[in-house]
Amino acid sequence: MHCTVITASRSRGIGGGLTYETTDASVKPGSRVLVPLRNALVEGIVLAVTEKRAQEDFDVKMVKEVLSNQPLLTEAQIKTLLWVAEYYHCTVRHALSVFLPAPPWNTLAEHPETFYKVQEVETATRGTKQKLVTEFLAGKEWVMEDELRAATGASRATLKALEEKGVVAREERMHTPLSPHSPASLQSPTLTTDQESAYQSIKKNSHPSLLFGVTGSGKTEVYAALIADALREGKGAILLVPEILLTEHIIGRFEELLGGREKIAILHSRLTNAERRSEWRRVRRGDARLVIGSRSALFAPVDKLGVIIMDEEHEWTYKNEQTPRYHARETAEVLARNADAKFLMGTATPSLESWSRTKSGTYHLARLPKRYKDAALPTVRVIDLADAAFGKQYPFTEPLIDAIRERLARGEQSVLFLNRRGVASALLCLQCRRRVVSASSQKPFTVHRSGQGRAFLLDHTSGERSDMPALCPHCSSARLHAVGAGTQKIEDLLTQIFPNARLLRADSDTLTHPEHMRLLLKKMREGSADILLGTQSVVKGLDLPEVTLAAVLVADVGLSLPHFRAGERIFQLLTQLTGRSGRTKPGEVIIQTFRPGAPEIEFASRHETEAYLEQELKLRLYSSYPPATRMLRLVTKKGAAKAEELRRACEETSQKKDLRLVVSAAPTLFGGGSTWHVLVRGANPTAVIPSLDLEGVTLDVDPLDCV
Ligand code: ADP
Ligand code: ZN
Repeated sequence: MHCTVITASRSRGIGGGLTYETTDASVKPGSRVLVPLRNALVEGIVLAVTEKRAQEDFDVKMVKEVLSNQPLLTEAQIKTLLWVAEYYHCTVRHALSVFLPAPPWNTLAEHPETFYKVQEVETATRGTKQKLVTEFLAGKEWVMEDELRAATGASRATLKALEEKGVVAREERMHTPLSPHSPASLQSPTLTTDQESAYQSIKKNSHPSLLFGVTGSGKTEVYAALIADALREGKGAILLVPEILLTEHIIGRFEELLGGREKIAILHSRLTNAERRSEWRRVRRGDARLVIGSRSALFAPVDKLGVIIMDEEHEWTYKNEQTPRYHARETAEVLARNADAKFLMGTATPSLESWSRTKSGTYHLARLPKRYKDAALPTVRVIDLADAAFGKQYPFTEPLIDAIRERLARGEQSVLFLNRRGVASALLCLQCRRRVVSASSQKPFTVHRSGQGRAFLLDHTSGERSDMPALCPHCSSARLHAVGAGTQKIEDLLTQIFPNARLLRADSDTLTHPEHMRLLLKKMREGSADILLGTQSVVKGLDLPEVTLAAVLVADVGLSLPHFRAGERIFQLLTQLTGRSGRTKPGEVIIQTFRPGAPEIEFASRHETEAYLEQELKLRLYSSYPPATRMLRLVTKKGAAKAEELRRACEETSQKKDLRLVVSAAPTLFGGGSTWHVLVRGANPTAVIPSLDLEGVTLDVDPLDCV
C-alpha cells in the first residue's frame, strides 16, 4: 500500500505530504508512523492510504515503523483538514497545524501514568506529610500521582517512603476513562414556549440552523438543550464563543448542566502549550465530552461529535488572520457534515453571509423574537456629537453626563463603550459633516501618525498623502475633527467629572486572563462598582443584571473606515449595546455619534434588525460585494510594484477566462505604506490563483478585513 504522510519536520517544499510504502495492512488515516526523510527518521501522521500503483517513476521509501494505529485524528477531522487546505489554498501541513498541538506528537498518545492507592489505613507513627497523603487517599480508588501531589503537596520521596512501608500501593497503568453521563444526571433546561419551538425546529432540520434571537432571549438555554441531548446519546459537543474572556457565565451555565467542570474542556489561545496538550488529551480519551472555546476549539479531537454550536456567529474573531486563514463558520459547517453532526449558529445580529443563506435555504432559520419573560428592550437615545458643546469634556456630552449622574444617585450601574484603541480615523468637518477626501480618488482620507507622532492624511485607494489641512476643503470651516482620537484620556476625564464614582476599566491591557474577568464581573455583580469603562471588544458580551445604562462614546469609528462591512460592524456593536442594558430593570442606551442619520444607527436605535439586514443585503447586491459575490485578497509586503503586477495579472486572467472580476490594489491601513493588497471579487475569484506568481504573497480567501 501507499500512504501520504505529513512529517513533524518543517522542511520546505513538503507541506503537501510525502508518499511512502507499507506492507502493514493495519495502517489507516490518522496512524502515527516513523519514516525516513533525507538522512533521518522522523515522526509522521498518515493522511491517506491508497492502493500501490503498479508503475512508479520515482523511488518510494518504506515506512520504517508503525508507532500507533490509534488515530490522533478522527476520519471527519482528516476530511475537514483536506478541505481546509484546498478551500483556503494552503498546504496540508498548515491545515494540520490547527488540528494538532505542535510536535512532538508521541506525547499526545495515551501512555501509562503513575497511580496510588491506600494499602493499610492503620495508623503507625507518621509525619504530617505522610498523614495528609493517606487521608487524601482514604476511601478512594487509584489516584493519579499528579492529582495526589497537587492536592497534598507531597514530594516523590514522601510517596516512596509510604510505598516502602507498604502503606500505599503504586501502579503504572492507563488512565481509566470517566464513566459516560447517565441520562438521569443531565437535567435538560425548562424551555419557554418560544425556546421550545425553536429547539424543536432546529432538532428536526438537517441543514445548519441559524438561531436569530434578540439579546436576552435565552439562546444559551436552547444550546443547553441540544448539548444535553448529544451527551445523553453518548456523543460529544463543541461550543464556540468569540472571546474566552466573555465566557465565564456560559461556562458556569454548563457546569451546572453537567454537574461540574470535570467533563468540560476549555480551549483558547491563552493556554500554555502544556495546558493545551493536557486538555487535548482529555478530549481525545473521551473524559471531556463538551469542549468550550474560541475558534480553535473547533479542532478538538471529539469522537462521535453530536453537535457544534457557534455563539455570536457574526463575530469577526471567528476568522483566523494567520495561515491557514480559515473562518470557523465555514469550517464548522464542513466538519459537522463530515461528522454527521448538527451545526447551530446563534446571534442577535446575523452576519450578511448567514442571513443570505437563510434566504436561499442553505441554512434553516429559527427565531426568538422576545426577551425572556417578555422583558422590554431598552430605550435608545441618539446624541449628535456635532451639535454638542463639550469643550474639554469631549466626548462626554451633557445628556450623557446627566444620565450617568442619575444612575449614581439611584445606585444603579452604567457601562461605557470606548472605541478600539489606536484606530486610524477620518478627518471630519463638524460644520458640513463631510469627510476630507483625496483629490485623486474622491475617497475619504484616513488620519495616520508618522514615527515622530505627526499626523498626516493617507488615501488608501491611490496611496496619495497630504498634510493635515487647517480648514475644511468643502466649507472652509476650522472645525475639523479626527474621529476616534483621544480615547486614552477618557478614564482620567471620567474621574474628574465623577470623583466619587467607583470606576472599573476593562480592556486588553487590564484583562489578560479569564481570572481577571471573573474578578471584574464579581465586583459588578456585588455592586462594588458604579461605572464600567471598557473597550468595545471586551465589554460587548457581558451579562450584568444591574446595568441600566449602556453608552457608546463615539459610534463612528467603524464608519470612518473605508470598508464595505463598516456599517454592518457598527450595527452589530450597537445591538450588542442594547443587550447590556436593562436585563432585569428597564434600561436605557445612549449612542453618541457624528452621523445620527446613518442607516445603521437609525435601524439599531429602533431595534429593527431584519429591516437593516434586508437593506444592507440589497446594497451588497447592487455593488457586487460579499455575500453577493466572493472575495479573494492577495497581500504583499513588496510594495506598489508587486501589487500592480498582481492586479494586472488578475485582470488579464479575468478577461481571458471571462470571469468578470472586479480587481483593485491599495496599500493596507496598518501596513506602514509598504504592505499592499489586491482585492478580487466576483463569482469565482480564486480562479485567478494558478496564473499568479505568488512568491512573497499571502492568500486570504473570503477576507473579513480588507482595509
Ligand atoms: P441571550 O444569549 O439570548 O442573550 P441568555 O441566554 O443570556 O440570552 O438569557 C438571558 C437571561 O434569561 C439569562 O439570565 C437566563 O438565565 C434567563 N433565561 C432565559 N431562558 C430561560 C429559561 N428557559 N429558564 C430560566 N432562565 C432563562
Ligand atoms: Zn466642512
